[in-house]
Amino acid sequence: MDELKKVLHESIERIKFSFKDDIESIDLDSIYIKYLGKNGEINKLIRQIREEAKEDGTELLREINRIKSNITEDIQVAKEKAKDEELSKETVDLTIPVKPTSLGSLHPVSLVTEQLYQFFHYYGFSVFEGPEIEDDEHNFEMLGVGKDHPARDLQDTFYLLQPDKLLRTQTSSIESRQLKEQKPPIRFVSAGKAFRNETANKSNTSYFDQFQGVYVDKNVDLGHLKWMFTKSLKFVLGEDTEIRFRSKFYPEVEPGMSPDIKCKFCDGVGCEICKYRGWIEIAGGGMIHSKTLEMAGIDSNVYSGFAFGWGLDRIVMSKYGIRDMRLLFNGSIVYQ
Ligand SMILES: [Zn+2]
Repeated sequence: MDELKKVLHESIERIKFSFKDDIESIDLDSIYIKYLGKNGEINKLIRQIREEAKEDGTELLREINRIKSNITEDIQVAKEKAKDEELSKETVDLTIPVKPTSLGSLHPVSLVTEQLYQFFHYYGFSVFEGPEIEDDEHNFEMLGVGKDHPARDLQDTFYLLQPDKLLRTQTSSIESRQLKEQKPPIRFVSAGKAFRNETANKSNTSYFDQFQGVYVDKNVDLGHLKWMFTKSLKFVLGEDTEIRFRSKFYPEVEPGMSPDIKCKFCDGVGCEICKYRGWIEIAGGGMIHSKTLEMAGIDSNVYSGFAFGWGLDRIVMSKYGIRDMRLLFNGSIVYQ
């Protein structure tokens, strides 16, 4: 029996040594099968010990089980080590440029508004806003448009169900409010939406963006307004923009003038956008009516001022080559 035990013990020792060699050279899955598999070296030897050594094999079984757990542990450790090595080989190149993604950008009306704010800020103008739901007094009365004034017919107004409330037909309503609140010298601009009950077509919609400005001080005259129109239009639309001035009636100013720009779509030849006139009416303005100044508590014998309003949408169309105003209210404007 001692001889048998010696042989079996040698077998255990042989497994120990061969495993040490194998784990350095053979892949781990094959090692597992070779030693720990159902018919692997360990299980074969356990069966042999049980069959041959019987009750004398207890010591040997204890030893082979110790070897078995050592081998199991060694394989586990080797697997984790291999996994770590694999991960350390994986590298991330942080210098590879990311794929370009298309982002949205500011609306062209916002871009032009910002440009105008920049221009007027340089000349000392502040920025003010006013409500889109207005009352009759600020939208009409204070601007020289009384209840029976024919100009009310020119501005097809959206009246609200609340008495005396309407959607402002012009951003001049901001002028009415600010003239009352401020003391001269007054210099401010404002941008906002105005609303009129018009059928939408290529050059008219029921709401539009206006840019409004007021300057009240001593000795302000029409020459200042003309200079300011010329300077600001060229600032936004380019130095080569051709401008002409026409005398025009607006109820809130006296005298009134309107700058037109030569149509950039047809270069003055005449097209659908300029209604075959070759010129596009882009803004309006004039000297603030003395009555408006007086109603706001400003002494018209001491102070004078000009007011102006731009049709922002028409400027944006000319600047970016947008041929249909309705596109400005669309979600996907493509311009150059
Ligand atoms: Zn034209």
